[in-house]
Amino acid sequence: MKQAKVTLAVASRNRDKVNELERIFSQIRPDVEWTFLSADDLNMPDVEETGKTFMDNAVIKAISGAKHSGRICIGEDSGLEVDVLGGAPGVHSHRFSETGSDDDNNRLLLDLLKDVPPEKRTCRYTCAIAIADAQGVVGGGEGHVEGIIDVELRGTNGFGYDPLFYSPELGKTFGEASSEEKDRVSHRRRAIENLLNQVKEEFV
Ligand code: IMP
Repeated sequence: MKQAKVTLAVASRNRDKVNELERIFSQIRPDVEWTFLSADDLNMPDVEETGKTFMDNAVIKAISGAKHSGRICIGEDSGLEVDVLGGAPGVHSHRFSETGSDDDNNRLLLDLLKDVPPEKRTCRYTCAIAIADAQGVVGGGEGHVEGIIDVELRGTNGFGYDPLFYSPELGKTFGEASSEEKDRVSHRRRAIENLLNQVKEEFV
């Protein structure tokens, strides 16, 4: 029997991301019946991601989503930082290649790193989450997970750069990992834990 029901808007059209958020919130707080409504569910307009940091963009999305939906809204911005590329693609992870498709982004990344040896292929995913209501931001959290860019795509699970993101913690790429395995160590998991530690009382 669930102790509480909480509905949150999420300012994202990325279904994979919204699903991961819903899954992780449910794992951390199984006593709550969570409902997540995406930008598409709520007809939110697109918002320009003009921030210099992941958290800047998460805040922009959360505030805009809360204003347009009239609901408590999550803004999430995440991406991949590759050390040998000076932290690129970073906040531009979604639009790294010309088309911005996952296939083209991964192909471009492999191409740029083709002569880079394994020890220099270090990278991390970062996830920033902000939560806002009509009055403004009520909390935020950030999470990171370290990885190594693999030399070829492995696995078909997850999304985005997951088939290239080798996790030393898991001993496999996120593309090969089950959703439970990814959720155990992911940047999104760590960001949500930090967020919920901070704002618990505001929701449930
Ligand atoms: P955003 O929608 O601007 O936050 O775009 C984030 C982009 O970063 C995604 O489109 C992916 O390319 C990448 N990304 C972020 N988190 C993940 C993840 O968990 N797995 C794979 N790619 C990710």
